[in-house]
Amino acid sequence: MKTLENDKVFYAFSPDMTPQLTVKQGELFLLETRDCFANQLCSNEDTLEELDWDRINPATGPVAIEGVKAGDMVRIDIKKIELSGRSVMTTIPGAGAIQGISQFSTRVFDNSRGTLLVETAKGTLELPLKPMIGVIGLAPPEGSIPNGTPGKHGGNMDCKLIGENTSLYLRASVDGGLFGCGDVHALMGDGEVLVCGAETPAKVTLAASVVEAAPLPVPFLETDSLFVAIATARSAEEAFKTAIDHMFSFLIETAGLEEGDAGRLMTLVGELKFCQVVDPEVTIRFEFPKSVLAELGFPGITQ
Ligand code: CA
Ligand code: ZN
Repeated sequence: MKTLENDKVFYAFSPDMTPQLTVKQGELFLLETRDCFANQLCSNEDTLEELDWDRINPATGPVAIEGVKAGDMVRIDIKKIELSGRSVMTTIPGAGAIQGISQFSTRVFDNSRGTLLVETAKGTLELPLKPMIGVIGLAPPEGSIPNGTPGKHGGNMDCKLIGENTSLYLRASVDGGLFGCGDVHALMGDGEVLVCGAETPAKVTLAASVVEAAPLPVPFLETDSLFVAIATARSAEEAFKTAIDHMFSFLIETAGLEEGDAGRLMTLVGELKFCQVVDPEVTIRFEFPKSVLAELGFPGITQ
């Protein structure tokens, strides 16, 4: 399998990036990713002073996908996420959404045995792993978007549903797409309120291909059970309105529902949720169950 090692990283998505790897459509490839601190924090004694802030949020790539043209809808299949044996979390005063954090601290957790061992002053908790990818995207049409920032191109969406056996739909802005990902979390809840999840190096197996889908509002995610519209904006209100709007247009234009039915079903079985509130912009998603559309005869996105 074609592999990119974790020294092939970039820190901003841009159309000018030079591909480090070229893959065929549908071909499996593997990206070795560093954690969001570029693996700089390795023990509980490591301090903020040791952190080189120019090396935050590395993404491995870019990967050019053969045959992808600017304007194409690209489906990125996340096949497998293998975590390293350890995760790190930090508390950083002034960062994140928890205003009461007053002290910097680092905690390194063992996740080598299939669970996350979270040490607290009151004892150790063993939590189930839910691997997810924080930073994932394609080059934007212009400019340079730091990996810490989410947007239409993907980026630091920190959506906990972007995990194994899901497909992310994005629009290519340049030929080849120029894909990259990083910032894998062993576990994170909605909101990412502290400013990080259980940050861990990983090996991510992926495949990418062009899909002839009806217009899809991107970024759009498909899991085994859900269709998910993901939206990022400066304010939460703007983000949730966009997420709602995108799911509504998907249900009408792609799934063929009537307006009133789409609205009623979004209210009855849809879920509006926060992905993250700590990156430069807010990311919110709208989830809709695939089973409901299947019952109404929708064959799926790629058919
Ligand atoms: Ca992140
Ligand atoms: Zn992260």
